Amino acid sequence: MEFNLSGFPAAEAQQKKVESVRLLVLGSGPAGLSAALYAARAELTPLVLTGVEIGGQAGLTFIIENYPGFPEGVGGYQLGELFQKQAEKFGARVEFETASAVDLSRRPFKISTYGADYLADSLVIATGASSNHLGIPGEKELTGHGVSYCATCDGYFFKEKRVVVVGGGDSALEEGLFLTRYASSVTIVHRRDSLRAGAILQKRAHDNPKVNFVWNSVLTAIVGDHLVEGVKLKNVVSGEESLLPTDGVFIFIGHTPNTELFKGQLEMDERGYIKTDMLMQTSVPGVYAAGEVADPNFRQVVTSAGMGAAAAMQAIKYLEKEEVQSPGVA
Ligand SMILES: Cc1cc2nc3c(=O)[nH]c(=O)nc-3n(C[C@H](O)[C@H](O)[C@H](O)COP(=O)(O)OP(=O)(O)OC[C@H]3O[C@@H](n4cnc5c(N)ncnc54)[C@H](O)[C@@H]3O)c2cc1C
Repeated sequence: MEFNLSGFPAAEAQQKKVESVRLLVLGSGPAGLSAALYAARAELTPLVLTGVEIGGQAGLTFIIENYPGFPEGVGGYQLGELFQKQAEKFGARVEFETASAVDLSRRPFKISTYGADYLADSLVIATGASSNHLGIPGEKELTGHGVSYCATCDGYFFKEKRVVVVGGGDSALEEGLFLTRYASSVTIVHRRDSLRAGAILQKRAHDNPKVNFVWNSVLTAIVGDHLVEGVKLKNVVSGEESLLPTDGVFIFIGHTPNTELFKGQLEMDERGYIKTDMLMQTSVPGVYAAGEVADPNFRQVVTSAGMGAAAAMQAIKYLEKEEVQSPGVA
């Protein structure tokens, strides 16, 4: 049997579906689904490829309290479902597929998944960002065995257990507070002596009797035989090292944009965020980027959704102009 480079039988590769679309959206987080909603209402029947994280990062968090319109807060996963339902209502198609390659040097643009090649007249990239890892001994080995990047997903397994949360931003505090529902104690380890998180979250954390802090400290290793048993800490001021027993480690130390697919094809900044102008336009006309993939600053559901809507509005204008310039070409 013949195999192609990706290890799949060649015959299977030959049977790949090829489909033309006016607008393709990569990603099903707040940016992607908002773009899909706007494009759908413009009757472009956009196709959304979800990637593995349906609903995006927002789907990983238990409750979102700062998305307007929900005074009591809304479940992260539930909000993603509502975004999707609204986009589909107006004609967006949502496929559970992940892009494995893109070719932006040709027109229409080619976006390949395992089962299909999509030819798209315009593209909105909303592939978001993924959690950063500490890169210390024990982290990889014990992921899923006490090391986690998602409190909503894994908090339940830590009933009456001790957990360590790494980080000092909003995510670390929000998720740390969520973990107090289950854990007997939540120790927040932060490399500085003050937090970056917003004032309300800081107050809630300081007021919660289950939460305590280890300041000016970093993890140098996660230890345990099959399951997490403790973390090795180093005080960055005194240099002192210690071992803190714990049953779980939750890591919230920022994100890296998911832009690997576009390297060499789109302009990016030194951290790998896609560069756009104020109209969400990338360095390739007809290709727009929205949400965390292009935004190292705000990184919120509301800002990502806003960027997604803006990107779609620009894509709609772009397609209209293309039609005028080359009438009859779909
Ligand atoms: C734990 C946690 C708690 C948070 N809490 C809040 C909060 O309370 N309030 C708030 O406003 N924000 C919060 N945020 C931030 C918020 O979730 C993000 O800012 C927002 O989700 C970014 O939206 P996005 O659409 O740009 O990207 P993402 O949500 O990252 O979505 C990216 C999408 O792209 C898809 N994708 C990736 N690669 C591919 C590919 N190759 N092909 C196809 N699809 C692909 C993924 O599957 C995913 O669907 C939180 C984040 C985390 C991690």
